[in-house]
Amino acid sequence: MKQFQFNYESEDKFISSLKRIKQWCNSTVVSNVVFQIYTESLNKNRIQSICSMIEKELPDALYIGCSTNGNIIMGDKSDWSISIICTIYEYPSTKVTVLQYPLSEKNARFVADDLCKYVEENNWVKSILTNTTMRGMSMTNYCNYLSALPEEIVFCGGGVFSEDINENDAFVFSSSGSISDHAAVFLLTGGDDYYVKALHVTGWKPLGRSLIVSKAKGNILYQLDGKPAYDTYYKYLNIKNDDNFFTNTLEFPFLYELNGLDILRAPIACNDDGSIVMTADIAENVKARIAYGDPWTILENVYNAATQFQDFIPETFNIFSCAARRTFWGDDEIGTETKPFQSLAPTSGFYTSGEFLRNGEHVNQHNVTLVIEAQREGDIEGKEIPQIDMDTDEFSGKVSMINRLATFIQAATEELEDANKRLEMLAISDRMTGLLNRSEIQHRITRKTKVLEKYAANGFSKAGASLIMMDIDNFKSVNDTYGHKEGDAVLIGLSDMLKKTVEELAPDAQIGRWGGEEFMVLCPSFNQNQAIELAETFRRRFSIIKFKEAGCRTMSLGVTELITGENSDICCVRVDEALYQAKNTGKNKVVVIE
Ligand code: GH3
Ligand code: MG
Ligand code: MG
Repeated sequence: MKQFQFNYESEDKFISSLKRIKQWCNSTVVSNVVFQIYTESLNKNRIQSICSMIEKELPDALYIGCSTNGNIIMGDKSDWSISIICTIYEYPSTKVTVLQYPLSEKNARFVADDLCKYVEENNWVKSILTNTTMRGMSMTNYCNYLSALPEEIVFCGGGVFSEDINENDAFVFSSSGSISDHAAVFLLTGGDDYYVKALHVTGWKPLGRSLIVSKAKGNILYQLDGKPAYDTYYKYLNIKNDDNFFTNTLEFPFLYELNGLDILRAPIACNDDGSIVMTADIAENVKARIAYGDPWTILENVYNAATQFQDFIPETFNIFSCAARRTFWGDDEIGTETKPFQSLAPTSGFYTSGEFLRNGEHVNQHNVTLVIEAQREGDIEGKEIPQIDMDTDEFSGKVSMINRLATFIQAATEELEDANKRLEMLAISDRMTGLLNRSEIQHRITRKTKVLEKYAANGFSKAGASLIMMDIDNFKSVNDTYGHKEGDAVLIGLSDMLKKTVEELAPDAQIGRWGGEEFMVLCPSFNQNQAIELAETFRRRFSIIKFKEAGCRTMSLGVTELITGENSDICCVRVDEALYQAKNTGKNKVVVIE
C-alpha cells in the first residue's frame, strides 16, 4: 500500500500530482487506486473539475469525497481548503468498491438493506468507510439498520460538514454518483491480504451529578430533571443563550450510556422554549451528565489508542474527528491529538459532524469523538513495530486544574447524594423500629389503590393485594409493670420479627409503624387467604418470643383484601375494624373482613 497526501493548490499542480501518481502506478503492480477528496469550501464547480481531472488522468481510479469542517493530512489540520489523499493498493487480492445512495429518513432502510445485500454477495468486504450527509436527519434508525451488517466488518466514517459550523449545507460525492446534499457514499475494501482495525477515543469525562433526560424527541432535548434543558446549562455553567451558545457549550457536551457505551452529544442551538437542539438524537429517560474536556486526559487517551495500533503495524490511518474537538483545541493545537498516529503511519481525515463506528453489536453515531481506522496489506511477519512519537512527560502523571476541580466536584456531589439518600430515608422511616413511618406506609397504600383503579376499569373487583394491621395486647401493662424501656424492647422485638418474616415469606410486602404499638403491613401481591396465613405466622412467631422481663406477649391482627377502585381510607378503616373485632372477641387472634 502506498499513499500520496497533498493539498489542492492549483489546477496545474494538481495535474502534475496526478501525472506523478500515474507514473508511479505504471512502474509497479497496482490493484486499486482510491482518492479521498476533502473540501472545507462548498464550491461545487471546483470539486466537479477535480473529479473530471481524476477521471481523465486515471480513468480506473475510484474516488469518494465530501465537504468538511477542516481537513487532516499528514496527521495535522491542513491549512488548505481542499486536501487529496490517494491510496494505492498493491496486493492483487485487494478489492475496492464505491457505492453511493441518496439518503433520507425515508430510504434509510433501503440503503442499509442494499448494503447488507452487497456484502452478503461479496464476502471479501472487510471494511466499510462512509461519508454521509446527515444534518436535519435522525440517524438512530439508520444506525440500527446498519447494525444488521456482519459484526466482523469494520464500519466507520463521518458525517459531513462545511467550514461554517453554523451552516447546514454539506455534500458528498464519489466516482459512483454526483455531488449530493442528501447522500451516503461508502468505500468498501477487503480481500485476503487486507487488514483493518478501528476504535474511538473521547477523553471527555463526566462532571457532577447525573440528570434525567425527562423529555427528548429526536435530536431535541426538551427537559432535564423535569426542567427546560437550557436552565441546566445556564445554572451550572452560566452559558447564555446568545450567539456564542454553540461554541460555549461544545466544551461541555452531554455524556450518557447507549448500547453499553459512553456516548457524547453536544448542544447546537437553544430554542425559545428552553429546549436544546443537539448534534444528534438523544434517548429519553436515560441518565445524562455534563462532560468536560481536559487536554492531558485527552492526550493520555490518544496515547493509549495509539499503543493499541502498534502491533497492527498500520500502513495508513483514516481519522474522523468531531468539529467540536477542533473548536476545543483551537487550530494551532488540534494537531496534537492526531500527530501521534502520523508517527505510526500516514494519517488523513476530516473534521466531522458526527462520527460513525461499529462497536460490538451496534453501529453507533458518536459526537465529540475521534474515530480512527488503520489499514494494512499483507501480514506483519518480519515487519518492525513502529514507535509512537509523543512526549508522554507532557501529560503522564500530571493532573490539570480542571481535572482536580472535577474530582472535587465529583466527591462533593457523591457526599451530597449520600447525605440526601440518608435524609430521604430518615424522612420516611420510624426511628426506633427502622420500619416505614405512618405517612410513608399511608402514601404507599394510596399509591397501590391508585394503581388498582385501572383494574377496576377492566372489571376486576378482587385486587390480589391485602392489608394486615396488628396491635400488641395489653401493652400498657408492660410499660406499667416493667417500665418504658422494656416496652421499647418489645416493640423492637416485634419489628425485627416482622422484617425477617416478610423477607422470608413476602419479599414485596412493606411494613409501617402505624401508631405506638400498632403496625400495618401492605402485601401488594397477596390475596385474602395468603394474607391470613401471613398474619397467622406473625401472630405465632410473636407469641413465642421470650422478652427478658415481660416474657411472652400476644397481639391481635386484622386482615382485609383491597377492593379495586376503592379509596385508601376505606380499606384502612376496614382493616382497623377487623383488628377491633379481634380485640373484642378475646385478643391473640386474626380476624378477617371480606
Ligand atoms: P389493648 O390490648 O386493648 O391493645 O390494650 P393496650 O394496653 O395494648 O392498649 P392501649 O392503647 O391502652 O395502650 C397502648 C400503650 O402503648 C400506651 C402507650 O404508653 C404505649 N406506647 C405507645 N408508644 C410507645 C413507645 O414508643 N414505647 C413504649 N414503651 N410504649 C409506647
Ligand atoms: Mg394494644
Ligand atoms: Mg393500641
